[in-house]
Amino acid sequence: MSEREFDVLPRGVSQEQFGQAIGKFRALLGADNVLVEDQQLVPYGKVMMSVANDEHAPSAALIATTVEQVQGIVRICNEHRIPIWTISTGRNFGYGSAAPVQRGQVILDLKKMNRILKIDPDLCYALVEPGVTYGQLYDYIQEHDLPLMLSFSAPSAIAGPLGNTMDRGVGYTPYGEHFMMQCGMEVVMADGQVYRTGMGGVPGSNTWQIFKWGYGPTLDGMFTQANYGITTKMGFWLMPKPPVFKPFEVIFENEEDIVEIVDLLRPLRMSGTIPNSVVIANILWEAGSAHLTRAQYIQEPGHTPDNVLKQILDDTGMGAWNLYAALYGTQEQVDADWKLVSGAFARLGKGRIVTQEEAGNTQPFKYRAELMSGVPNLQEFGLYNWRGGGGSMWFAPVSEARGSECRKQAALAKRILHKHGLDYVAEFIVAPRDMHHVIDVLYDRSSGEETARADACFNELLDEFEKEGYAVYRVNTRFQERVARSYGPVKRDVEHAIKRALDPNNILAPGRSGIDLETYDADRRENS
Ligand SMILES: Cc1cc2nc3c(=O)[nH]c(=O)nc-3n(C[C@H](O)[C@H](O)[C@H](O)COP(=O)(O)OP(=O)(O)OC[C@H]3O[C@@H](n4cnc5c(N)ncnc54)[C@H](O)[C@@H]3O)c2cc1C
Repeated sequence: MSEREFDVLPRGVSQEQFGQAIGKFRALLGADNVLVEDQQLVPYGKVMMSVANDEHAPSAALIATTVEQVQGIVRICNEHRIPIWTISTGRNFGYGSAAPVQRGQVILDLKKMNRILKIDPDLCYALVEPGVTYGQLYDYIQEHDLPLMLSFSAPSAIAGPLGNTMDRGVGYTPYGEHFMMQCGMEVVMADGQVYRTGMGGVPGSNTWQIFKWGYGPTLDGMFTQANYGITTKMGFWLMPKPPVFKPFEVIFENEEDIVEIVDLLRPLRMSGTIPNSVVIANILWEAGSAHLTRAQYIQEPGHTPDNVLKQILDDTGMGAWNLYAALYGTQEQVDADWKLVSGAFARLGKGRIVTQEEAGNTQPFKYRAELMSGVPNLQEFGLYNWRGGGGSMWFAPVSEARGSECRKQAALAKRILHKHGLDYVAEFIVAPRDMHHVIDVLYDRSSGEETARADACFNELLDEFEKEGYAVYRVNTRFQERVARSYGPVKRDVEHAIKRALDPNNILAPGRSGIDLETYDADRRENS
């Protein structure tokens, strides 16, 4: 029996079993690396979602520093049926942060496994451990004067490539689709075996980080947004730093312009003339990123009305839509591409182009240019102060890169958000064929009433978008089970069959992306 009672326990685990497991974790990791006190668990409990923190409270957190320790942890978890929730840098703000998907799961915190194992400046790749941050990589590249450029999510400095890629996150350079640039993973499986994907299984191979596919089935994708393994190393490609980088913004006055913007951009993205993940940010995203607050403009609760939006446009010179993109290459290449791009916008006859020379150090241009050239910053956290109150959930449906579709999604989202008294704070992140339509559902979490409204709003967004055949590419842990249903029963059957084969004791993050043997089996019994 343990020396104490635990306030929070993993599902189906008794005090006694948990006490025994904690004793074994301490023997393996040292007592300092097994956190069970409330105060120690605070950093793992702030969810920002529209439910009480309690619903996602961890029972403990384990800090591992080696692959062998991770193997030891899964062994103990199997013995005592302890579910673990793995985080790397743990900055998944707006998607559940560092908290587990289900109450009582034990956090496996890998942030102290933070060695940059290799950066190859000739073949332009990196191999890192889970705790490596983009900030750390940036400093390394600067210190060693390497001609390489990073691509990262907006929380850049404090987040990391491995965790971001595990959630299939995005950045803003030509390498902005991060999972596409991933090459080679090392994964601790639920039975403790260490599996290397791609060429990583070949003894002595020096091609693990340069050839993705290896031989036979290619399984890397299976470990992202999933609970089939614990990734302990990841390789990814780095872009050679171009001699010339030319960021620019195009400001559009009217909401309806989105149709023409997208249709004009698509061929430029498709041909590679504009090579990076272009962003089209709406007025409120722009305002929040520039660190304006709603209270500066309006005191009344509810959504921000059109006359106030107009006031912000007039005061700031921002657009209803603000497009940020960049050109990369030699001077000759950039000059030639600039002719094509500026010519296309001139022919459209809409949109005011702003270049680096004109923008100087003004925000949000400055932080956008930094994101597009691999320089970390935290400017975008200003979004949290727009409304205040600490509630933020990303609603991120995938859209065709087609103007009419973007307009349709924007109008639908805006209508639903406004119905619930919340703002449409959105950007489109543009790939050649698809767009991540990323909407920050911001609300005041200190108000129970507003939190309930945000919850109802998010549910309605999911339902109404689904009716139109749209689904999100990623979602916070509160809604992962719900979103799994959008993708149909066969996918779920396959995912659970894989889970049963690889993790029969259901110890790795049950509930991640709706994959949980216990609830799945219970559902099947009920429906049979
Ligand atoms: C203002 C703001 C702007 C943002 N902009 C962006 C953006 O531009 N692009 C973007 O993608 N996101 C964005 N985000 C969301 C988020 O903060 C980032 O995606 C961030 O990079 C994720 O956190 P992380 O890198 O620390 O990953 P982690 O939190 O460590 O990991 C993310 C998830 O991956 C899984 N995971 C982590 N490590 C492992 C592992 N070793 N093995 C198996 N599974 C694992 C877990 O499910 C975990 O919850 C933004 C957030 C804010 C607040």
